[in-house]
Amino acid sequence: MAGRLDGKVAMITGAASGIGLGTVELFVAEGAQVVAADIQDEKGAMLEKRFPGKVLYAHCDVTKEADIEAAVKKAKTEFGGLDILFNNAGISDRMSTITEITAEGWSWIFDILVRGPALGMKHAAPLMLERGGGSIINTASIAGLQAGFGPIAYSTAKAGVIHMSRVAAAQLSPQKIRVNAICPGLIATSIFGASIGLPLEVADQMAARVAENASKAQPVPKAGLPDDIAQAALYLASDAAAFVSGTHLVVDGGITVGGRHAWDTTSVSPFATILGDMIPGQS
Ligand code: NAP
Repeated sequence: MAGRLDGKVAMITGAASGIGLGTVELFVAEGAQVVAADIQDEKGAMLEKRFPGKVLYAHCDVTKEADIEAAVKKAKTEFGGLDILFNNAGISDRMSTITEITAEGWSWIFDILVRGPALGMKHAAPLMLERGGGSIINTASIAGLQAGFGPIAYSTAKAGVIHMSRVAAAQLSPQKIRVNAICPGLIATSIFGASIGLPLEVADQMAARVAENASKAQPVPKAGLPDDIAQAALYLASDAAAFVSGTHLVVDGGITVGGRHAWDTTSVSPFATILGDMIPGQS
């Protein structure tokens, strides 16, 4: 059967772990060749070995423009061009509240989460133009849509990613380069452990524990997994989404549909809080 990405070349940042890794696996299964960009060189080398001729690793710190430029060039020199860019690399942080932020920490988060994807788009677009168009997908987050799903700098940066994707879509879509964002909900990856300062190996192991606990976090009673986001990225990357640009796809098992009381009958609704013992039978 024909793959949905046969003949396409993709670059994926944050490709060595979590959502990025899941997307490498799916894109390769669907026929793409992939430049897997990350800062985890050992895992990147393992990916190359796992998918010979299909995946090339590029050491690419998305805070460094030269790294991004070199990784994008690799797509051209090794695979002949670039059709798809998944700007996905990311981290979280512990500056939860506005009074905890530091100037340096704020800039660091924005460099990775916003400036990185911006520079990725800048360097990828000319190569996509040579191929007659392309698809850019930026990983945002439900934290960019609602308060309460992440630290303040992270959440603000992700809101920026959603809007940046719209503006870039307006600028690039006339040249047949579609730009969209994905807003993942809670996805069981190492990012949770890493954000609380655990060493990488421990954070990796913690992803499995997060998956065990996560099935009760949202209306859909299953844990969000990297493949759930990879499937969304596949849709946006493929010709099935030929008319989709400038939007954000929320993939969150319904966690943003409303307050927890809307779907969890054990949770107290605002009505119950307000009315309290005025509700017949409650006193
Ligand atoms: P992950 O498993 O930690 O994967 C992120 C990857 O990006 C890691 O390999 C990480 O390396 C790498 N990375 C970090 N800084 C980088 C840099 N400067 N340049 C290049 N690569 C870098 O986390 P994930 O959950 O898959 O996260 C992927 C994206 O999804 C992120 O943008 C994240 O904000 C977003 N997201 C995740 C969730 C969720 O619930 N998991 C929800 C919403 C959005 P290190 O491990 O060495 O840092």
